[in-house]
Amino acid sequence: IRVLVVGAGLTGSLSACLLRRELKDKNVHIVVWDKARGVGGRMSTFRPPDPSCHSADLGAQYISATREYARSHHSFYTELLEEGILRPLDCAVEGLRHKDGSTDYVAPLGMSSVVKHFLRHSGEPDLFLEHQVSGLYRRGSSWEVHRKQGDSQNFDSVLLTIPVPQILQLEGDLGDVLSVQQRELLHGVSYSSRFALALFFPPGTDLGVPWGVRYYNNDDGGAGLGPSLVVHTGVPFGLQNLERNAEEVQPIILGELNRLLPALPQPISIKCHKWRYSQVASAVAGCPGHMTLSEHPLLVCAGDAFTHSNFDGCLTSALSTLEAFKGVM
Ligand SMILES: Cc1cc2nc3c(=O)[nH]c(=O)nc-3n(C[C@H](O)[C@H](O)[C@H](O)COP(=O)(O)OP(=O)(O)OC[C@H]3O[C@@H](n4cnc5c(N)ncnc54)[C@H](O)[C@@H]3O)c2cc1C
Repeated sequence: IRVLVVGAGLTGSLSACLLRRELKDKNVHIVVWDKARGVGGRMSTFRPPDPSCHSADLGAQYISATREYARSHHSFYTELLEEGILRPLDCAVEGLRHKDGSTDYVAPLGMSSVVKHFLRHSGEPDLFLEHQVSGLYRRGSSWEVHRKQGDSQNFDSVLLTIPVPQILQLEGDLGDVLSVQQRELLHGVSYSSRFALALFFPPGTDLGVPWGVRYYNNDDGGAGLGPSLVVHTGVPFGLQNLERNAEEVQPIILGELNRLLPALPQPISIKCHKWRYSQVASAVAGCPGHMTLSEHPLLVCAGDAFTHSNFDGCLTSALSTLEAFKGVM
């Protein structure tokens, strides 16, 4: 059975891993495609051109496990902590209104190491980067999956973990398989947008701030490697500037950062990134974590849009996706 997982973000890598662990006796061959040049999706880690600087997470910064999730997803947290992929966050977090009892973790090697961990534990699936899906066509008992580059391949089952607006843009037979209710639910999904600005400093630089993470409200406006600092803009700023490119917005964010932290030293390089689909503002209502669009051949969509935008949301989605696959395989 050939299964295509579209998207090598956290949901795609977790789903590939769970499918491999649970369906290993069923002769399932898993293939993962992602349109990007690296894995991670919104948990991507940027490596600056200067090797003396620390890499920076442009999307997710840390993972907060509520007491309930720490219990229900205990085995996943234990696995990540034991392998050194996650470590308790040990710096000061200022301005965060945390729910009681949550524990925060960071990924010392970058958030993409969490995604890479689950890909590694998927029995090293065939991973193809720069493979952008452009359309899905039903061909008897399989899906013919088209790439933007022009070629296509057939799969028995397909799992889409890409942001919902991008699912709705796919060409082919998707329009025919969606029920009226599913179409309405998917059109109801919305995302916030954000810009991320990463500043990279030479080794030995003291950033002169007493915190590791600081939240500003609207009124405020590795060993041997140089530190990096990541700034995320707020939701209203993302909305106002959504159609501007990262180069245009970079000086605005830098100006505000200089106002907030006037003593910040001079960085040696800077990277600005636009997240059009940042965190899910409105998820698919009443959804168990995935949506089955077709049972024969199987077509499922999953991701944080079917739960909520964080590590545990993606894990909940991947666990429910596994049940959907087990139900028909
Ligand atoms: C700025 C920011 C800050 C965040 N902060 C936190 C945080 O601190 N803690 C936390 O837990 N979460 C945080 N999140 C949320 C978290 O990052 C997401 O919930 C999670 O990464 C979503 O994973 P996913 O696999 O569902 O989707 P994605 O990570 O979006 O993965 C989808 C993948 O599909 C690929 N793709 C898209 N279209 C196609 C196509 N047509 N063909 C092939 N591939 C395609 C993309 O390249 C991408 O790799 C943050 C997100 C952002 C953007």
